[in-house]
Amino acid sequence: MPEAVTGVPLLRVESIRMHFPVTRGLLGRVSHHIKAVDDVSFHLYPGETLGLVGESGCGKTTIGRVIMRLYDPTSGQIHFAPHGAAGATYELAGMTRPELRAVRHHFQMVFQDPHTSLNPRQNIMDIVGEPLKLNGERSRRVRSERVMEMLRLVGLRSEFATRYPHAFSGGQRQRIGIARALILNPALVIADEPVSALDVSVQAQILNLLKYLQQELDLTYLFIAHDLSVVKHICNRVAVMYVGKLVETAAVDQVFLQPRHPYTEALLSAVHTPDPSREAKRERILLEGDVADPAFPPAGCYFHPRCRYAQDICRTEAPVLREVIPGHQVACHLAEELALTGSAN
Ligand code: SF4
Repeated sequence: MPEAVTGVPLLRVESIRMHFPVTRGLLGRVSHHIKAVDDVSFHLYPGETLGLVGESGCGKTTIGRVIMRLYDPTSGQIHFAPHGAAGATYELAGMTRPELRAVRHHFQMVFQDPHTSLNPRQNIMDIVGEPLKLNGERSRRVRSERVMEMLRLVGLRSEFATRYPHAFSGGQRQRIGIARALILNPALVIADEPVSALDVSVQAQILNLLKYLQQELDLTYLFIAHDLSVVKHICNRVAVMYVGKLVETAAVDQVFLQPRHPYTEALLSAVHTPDPSREAKRERILLEGDVADPAFPPAGCYFHPRCRYAQDICRTEAPVLREVIPGHQVACHLAEELALTGSAN
C-alpha cells in the first residue's frame, strides 16, 4: 500500500448534496426528496487513492457520478486542478455541458461491470479508440497506434484489437475498460467497484494492474468499494459513508488498526484475516435492521437504530464530522470514549 500523499489537492469536493425529487400524482408534485448525498466534503491529493466505502445504497456511487457530472448536484462545489497549483482549477459542479466537454479528458471512470460497459457490436480497436475519436483525433493511424500502446500497458495482446467483447473473460474485459478510460491520459480516475464483479483470483490481478498504472501514468484514484479488504490493498486513505454522509475518514492503516466509528467497526468485522488463530477469534458484528431510508432518515445519528453503543444523545442530536486526532475525522458523539475493534488483516 503506497504512502499517503499531501500537497495541493487534485480534487476538492465541498458540501456536495445530491437530492433526488420524488413526484406524486398527475401533476407531478414533488412530495419529498431522496437525500442520496448530503453535505459531503473531502480532498483528494495527486498520486493517492482514496477509498469510498459503505453498504449498497449509502451514496458512494452517486458521489462518483456527481463528480463525473453524470448527475447535476443539488448544491456544493467540486474544484478540480488537473495540473496542480501551476495550472487552472475548474469548478466542475457549476460548468455547462460544453465547458465540461473541454475538460472531461482529464477525469475518466472505470465501471463495475465489464460485461455491460462494453458495446458488444464494436471491436476492441473501436471501443478503446472511441474516446480519442470523440475528442477530435481524426487520424486512424494515430488512434490505432495509441490503442496498441494502451493494450500493451494493460497486459493485452495486440491481435485482440480486431476481436469483440464476447471473446474475452471478465478480467480481460475489465482490462479493456481500463484501457479505454486511460487512453485520453486523465489525471483522475473514478473506479466504481472495478473488481466486485470478478472472481477473487482475478481481482488481485486487476488491483495490481491499477497500482502499476498509477505509478506509470501518475494517476489519482477515487476507488469506490463495499469491501474493505479490497480497499486495504490499493488505497492510502479511506472515507466511510452511511446514508449519504461521511462518518469516518483517515489513513487506511489507521482505520484498520483503530476505527473510531461503530459502523466502520462493523464493516471491519466482516474482513477475513489470513492468520487462522486470529480468524477463529474474529467476532462478526451483525448489523440488525436495514440501512436507513435516505428519504426519511431517523432523527439524531442516522446509525443509531443499528448501533450497539447508542446513548440518549444519539437519538436526538446529529453528530458532525470532526477531527478527533490529526488526519482522522469521525462523526460520532462517542468517538473519543469508545475502544473499538479493528482488523488485523
Ligand atoms: Fe453510535 Fe451514537 Fe456514535 Fe451514532 S453517535 S455511531 S449512535 S455511538
